[in-house]
Amino acid sequence: MLLKRLELVGFKSFADKTILEFPGGIAGIVGPNGSGKSNVLDAVRWILGEREAKNLRGDKAEDLIFAGTQKRPRMGMAQVSLIFDNSSGFFPVDFSEVSIVRRIDRDGISQYFLNKAEVRLKDIIDFFAKARLGTHGLTVINQGESDLFVKSTPKERREMIEEILGLRQYQIKKQEAQRKLKNTGINIDKVRVMLDEIGPHLRFLKKQTAKWEKLGETEKELNDLESVYFKNKLKEIFVGLEKFSPRLKEIDTALVHKNSELKVLHEQLSKVENSRPSNKAQLDSLQLKREELLNKKSVLEKELGRLEVKIEFSSNTEVDPKKAIVVLNDLKSVIKNLSEESDLIKIKTVLNEIFSKIDNFLQFGNEAGVSKELAEFKASKDKLSSQLSEIIKELENLKKMEFGFSADLESFNSEFRKSFQLVEAKKDEIAGLESEKNRIHFDTERFNLRMQDLETQISQAGKNINELKAGLENIEAVNIFEAERRIFKLRAEVASVGEIDQALLNEAKETETRFNFLSTQLADLEKASNDLSTLIKDLDIKIHNDFSSSLGKINEEFNKFFQLMFGGGKGKLYLEKPEPKKQVLPDEGLADEAQQAVKEPEADEEDDELSAGIDLELVIPRKKIKGLEMLSGGEKSLVSIAVLFALISVSPPPFLVLDEVDAALDEKNTRRFAELIKDFSKKSQFIIVTHNRSTMESSDVLYGVTMEEDGVSKVLSIKLD
Ligand code: ATP
Repeated sequence: MLLKRLELVGFKSFADKTILEFPGGIAGIVGPNGSGKSNVLDAVRWILGEREAKNLRGDKAEDLIFAGTQKRPRMGMAQVSLIFDNSSGFFPVDFSEVSIVRRIDRDGISQYFLNKAEVRLKDIIDFFAKARLGTHGLTVINQGESDLFVKSTPKERREMIEEILGLRQYQIKKQEAQRKLKNTGINIDKVRVMLDEIGPHLRFLKKQTAKWEKLGETEKELNDLESVYFKNKLKEIFVGLEKFSPRLKEIDTALVHKNSELKVLHEQLSKVENSRPSNKAQLDSLQLKREELLNKKSVLEKELGRLEVKIEFSSNTEVDPKKAIVVLNDLKSVIKNLSEESDLIKIKTVLNEIFSKIDNFLQFGNEAGVSKELAEFKASKDKLSSQLSEIIKELENLKKMEFGFSADLESFNSEFRKSFQLVEAKKDEIAGLESEKNRIHFDTERFNLRMQDLETQISQAGKNINELKAGLENIEAVNIFEAERRIFKLRAEVASVGEIDQALLNEAKETETRFNFLSTQLADLEKASNDLSTLIKDLDIKIHNDFSSSLGKINEEFNKFFQLMFGGGKGKLYLEKPEPKKQVLPDEGLADEAQQAVKEPEADEEDDELSAGIDLELVIPRKKIKGLEMLSGGEKSLVSIAVLFALISVSPPPFLVLDEVDAALDEKNTRRFAELIKDFSKKSQFIIVTHNRSTMESSDVLYGVTMEEDGVSKVLSIKLD
């Protein structure tokens, strides 16, 4: 026993709180026409999740609430509760008793409660679907609907079977997945459209901003390279300047030293100058005297020559003239030679020779008788010779004196020259050092100018020279020429980019963020879409497999019940090609999210096999049936009831609510029906509205419904013996 109780309050004709207890088995509901029996059935159908007003025999949701009578005012709300015993754990909830409540007020607000916790209609439908209960199948068969299965479409028949097989829960899941898939598809399309719109604009913006983004890199490279370049240049200048300083000190020290040496050398030179010999004047006068003596000597010689010529002439008067001429000519040539001779010794020798020759000749003359004149001549000659000898002697003395004087002068000159050369050499050394010093000063100045130029460059590059100067020891060495070329190129690149438009950069950033967000969203949606498609396929397979495997068993049972009811023949259910889709319009009053979920198109056309409807193949004894429409009303009910019994024998639901299903049956079949439900009541509970005695007799509990003058239905429990 699962269904324990049904409670009604304000529902249709049940204004007062009415409780129907179901002890198990069959509960018969009896009563006069119009007393409210079918309203009980409506209540069950409504709480199972019925959404269509017409299936509840009303036009609108409000029709479910007690409308009031002349004696009773109308009510503001209707409420129906079903209470189940869940001690067996049949329902997958953690309660030993489960109560489902549905409530509606006149504002059309509908509420659902599962054990007092408010839930959605979708949850209720899902809850019952898992329990093989619902409004699409044969759980609740309304009055006059005993032939429901036969007169339904193949598709509706399939739904009925699926519901009772407990497959409806998967159909609901599938429909939900399909709805989500459709919405996901719509969202995918929307996102794609947005991406298509944003894409070209983003490309345009990126093209615009790419050069600015690259500018950052270029500026960084330029900045880094400039720093390294300037550091190298600074280091080069510092190293250059550092080199000069010690050399300048060396030069200055050397100059002090050399200048003092020069001073000493100057003093030495002065000393030498001061030691110049003082007898030069005497030497000069000696030379003058010598020239004087030489002139005198020349005059004497000439005089002597003339005298000798005279002597010879005088001697020739006694001598052979030819011999005299020879002697004179001989003397003449000797004297001539003597006049050119400057050597006094030679002159003296030659003069003695001349005297000897003259003496020889004169001796010859004396021999021949020398005259007085000749004697005078000879005396003069002797005098002259003696004078000449004196002069020659004097000249020799002079020469000796002169030689002494010139030796002193030469030694002075040598000393002077030496000192002078030392002074000059020192001056040259000093000049060399001065010139090097000047060159260093010049180079220093050159480096200073380079430094000034570099400082200007550094400041123009917007850098701080003090920062650059720090840590010059460990800088990366660069090829200055290459670095200058690269800096020039990078500066040109930076200059060519132009000004950054911050607004455009921001727009590009925002657009890219949005594009990435949409791309991620698209990927998520596509994944969700794939997951949903997979889920739908899996559900299809599950439904298809469960349905196919059950259909055989159902047919076995159907054929059995068919033969039982028709006394033979044959009945078979088979899969049919699906009919074109039927548009189902939602009920306004009961529309909500769950309703949408349930009303989506069920299957794709291509899934023919999976959504195929159910058709009937019947062979009735002694009759030739061409179509179901040929069956009589009773036959249609018998076939439908045979199907119902086949279904509940394969998959019994917790309960069934049947409203005068037996009405169309003849007496024999009514008894058979009563026996069968008695049989099935061991597995499923039955709530049966009936006027039939056999059915009443098979009931375990009987409720009598009455309606008195106040127009309110009342329920009486009738004890059966
Ligand atoms: P029958 O045996 O002829 O089928 P029944 O016992 O099944 O009759 P119901 O159809 O359940 O009778 O009840 C119909 C009665 O319920 C009517 O008298 C009708 O006035 C009453 N009724 C239906 N809806 C409401 C409502 N909203 N408020 C009050 N009474 C209502």
